[in-house]
This record gives sequence, C-alpha cells and structure tokens, in this order.
Amino acid sequence: MSTSTAIIIGAGIGGLAAAHALQRDGWRVTAYEQAPAIAPVGAGVGIAPNAVKALDYLGLGQALRDHGRRQTGLEIRLRRGGLVGHIPAADIERRYGASFYALHRAELHRLLMAGLNPDTLRSGHRAEKITPGPDAATVTLSTSNGTVSETADLVVAADGVRSRLRAALLPDYPGPTYAGYTVWRGIVPAERAEPLGIPAILSETWGHGARFGSATINDGQIYWFACESVPEHATPEHDLGLLAARFRGWHDPIPGLLAATPEDTLLRHDVYYLRARLPGFVHGRVALLGDAAHAVTPDIGQGACLAIEDAVTLAAAIEENGIDAGLLAYDELRRPRTERMARTSGKLGRIMQTHNPAAALLRNSIASALPTSLLISAVGTALAWTPPLGADT
Ligand SMILES: Cc1cc2nc3c(=O)[nH]c(=O)nc-3n(C[C@H](O)[C@H](O)[C@H](O)COP(=O)(O)OP(=O)(O)OC[C@H]3O[C@@H](n4cnc5c(N)ncnc54)[C@H](O)[C@@H]3O)c2cc1C
Repeated sequence: MSTSTAIIIGAGIGGLAAAHALQRDGWRVTAYEQAPAIAPVGAGVGIAPNAVKALDYLGLGQALRDHGRRQTGLEIRLRRGGLVGHIPAADIERRYGASFYALHRAELHRLLMAGLNPDTLRSGHRAEKITPGPDAATVTLSTSNGTVSETADLVVAADGVRSRLRAALLPDYPGPTYAGYTVWRGIVPAERAEPLGIPAILSETWGHGARFGSATINDGQIYWFACESVPEHATPEHDLGLLAARFRGWHDPIPGLLAATPEDTLLRHDVYYLRARLPGFVHGRVALLGDAAHAVTPDIGQGACLAIEDAVTLAAAIEENGIDAGLLAYDELRRPRTERMARTSGKLGRIMQTHNPAAALLRNSIASALPTSLLISAVGTALAWTPPLGADT
C-alpha cells in the first residue's frame, strides 16, 4: 500500500478510472477537471470484454453488470438489411472471458465516480503548465479565483485528445488528425424504443461512405451513431430531418430510430485521432493516459476501453515495481498495445467507411464470405487483454 500523492488532470473516463486504480492502492489522489462542474455528458458507450475485465480488477465490474446492458451478440448488416455476420455473446464470453456491455456515458461516469474518496474531484481547474521532475511534478492550474500550483509524486495527464499537457511536454508533436468522417449520436428513450422491438445487440450497418450503429443501453434506451465521410470542417446538417433523409431506405429499425430520437439528444462531432506515435507516455513523474496518449478512431470501439486498461496497468505496475520502475513498465506495456490498436482501428475504419462503390462491394462480398470466427478475430487482440499482474477481486 502506497501513501504517495497523485494529481490527475481530466475527469473523463480515463482520469476517473486512474483515480480509482490509484486510490485502491492507497494513493492520495486529487483529480482536476476544467469543466465548471463534473456534469456527465455524451450519448452511449460500448464496453468490450477487455474493459469489463479491467473494471472487474477495479472492483467496478458488478456495478457495470447492474447498470449497463449486456449485449446478446454483435451483428454486421448491409444497408438493405443483408446479414454480413452475427456473433452470439456466448462465443465472445467463451473466447474472451466476458461479454460486451453498453450504457449511457453519464451512467459510466456515475459508476466511476461512485466510491471515490469524497474530496477527490475538483472541477473548474484547468491545467495550464506542467513541470516534470525526477521525484515529483508540478502543475499550474487556472481557476475562477486565479492561478494555483500543485505538486505531487505523480501526475497523470488524462486530458483527452487535445491534451495541453502533452503539447507542453512534446511541443514538436503534430497533434490530432482528422479521421475523414463526422459522427452523429442520439438516444431514443425507452418508451419510444419499446414499440420498435429491438434486441439488445450491438449492431452496425455498412453503406457507401456512411455507417449506422446501435445498441440497447441501460433502462431500455437505445443509443445510435451515424457516420458520414465528409471533408474536415464541412458543416453537414445538424438536423434529424436531414439525417433521416440521408439514411432513408436503410433497413429497419434505422429510419424508426431516427424518427423516435428527441432533437435535444442529438450530438455531432468530427472524429480526430493521434496518427503519429508518441516517443513516450512517461516524462519524469508525468504519465500520459487515455486519449491524451493514444486517441484511436472509434472504429473498433476501444478508446475508452484502452483508457480503463491504462489506468489498471499504471497502478498495478507501480504497486509491483515502485514509482519509477513502474512508470517505465507502464510505458513498455502500453505503447506497443495501443499503437497496434490504433493501426487496426484506422485500417478497419477506412474499409468500413469507404465511399468507393467498387471497394464497398468487394468489402461486402469478402466480409460476407468470412466465417464469423474470422470477423471477430480482427479485433481479438483487443478483447483478449487481461490485467497484466493478475486481478485480485
Ligand atoms: C463518436 C465516438 C464514439 C465512441 N465510442 C466508443 C465506444 O463505444 N467505446 C469506447 O471504448 N470508446 C469509444 N470512443 C472513444 C472514447 O470516447 C474516448 O477514447 C474516451 O472518452 C477517452 O477518455 P479520456 O478520459 O482519455 O479523455 P476524455 O473523455 O476526452 O476526457 C478528458 C477530460 O479532460 C478534461 N480536460 C481537458 N483539458 C483539460 C485541462 N487542461 N485541465 C483540466 N481538465 C482538462 C476534459 O474536460 C475531459 O473531461 C468513442 C469516441 C467517439 C468520438
């Protein structure tokens, strides 16, 4: 058990998971978030078996099972409804030791925040500057009352894809790259979803330069996402009527889901990722974690899952080896894996998002001919992860 101190910058999924992991090992943790209040936002999120195992390690697996929705399988379809592949949950559980879950991001945030020591989270604090040292690191934060400096044995930079701390530590690093498509997300409330009779399955449908996916989440709500290839900074419609026109003729329940979505749940974001490898995730006593270290495209639904893995690995490596050797081990364990996931996600994204009709036809024929075991093996390395130093829950 440690009595060391840690500062976490960013109270997203990665930062909250890191706070849990370190507190579990006795660290005194303070997590600073720039938002004026820790108000959970967003739409849905899929939690893959690797992250379920990481949450089990943190003692949060039961809460996920209680509040998230277990998916009965995965399926891929073509826009007229033709089935490319279906993988039942039992196969996934047999191979990877856990199921897929899906839940509202707000629910995941709640679940990660519950159980943290009462004074862990400080909102309204934006990290501006970092000074990494050999035995400690100091962060300068701006607040509505001015500037404060805080020093701790360890600083975890979990401040997302546009990380200020990464930019301060690696001023020559090029920063995020546009993935070539934009994503709309929405939530259909349970009472509107129920008449559509949708099973709790992670479903994705491929078109030409467009994709649609959905999952049943907690309380019977449906989370959906729709991707369209558009140039960077294009301003495509942020309007459900126009989006419904874009996906007209796609198989049921896609038009029904769009029609049942309350306008105020609609989100749209252009997708960015980190294309260039980072030379290191660790700088003195500062560890980059989650999207700040390795933002991957959402094509294999692994960004948040990898952030939770990072948190578990960081705390476990330090507990096993002490702070400095543990940080080195964290860097050695996480960089190769996340670089590989980034490559897989980027490649699959280009295939799934292609708007060339001939390439899409080839993709559809090859994918439809593949046994489902091969379809899932494309992301098998992601799902097969287990906590590196053994779970003890
Ligand atoms: C459309 C879409 C769908 C996705 N679906 C999935 C999915 O199904 N499954 C999955 O695993 N992943 C998914 N992802 C990826 C996932 O959302 C991210 O990988 C994940 O949220 C990263 O978590 P994080 O904590 O590293 O960063 P973030 O969630 O970005 O959190 C960073 C936090 O840091 C705060 N912050 C930033 N700068 C500062 C500062 N200077 N000082 C203080 N605080 C700061 C921010 O306000 C924020 O709260 C998806 C991504 C997208 C775009």
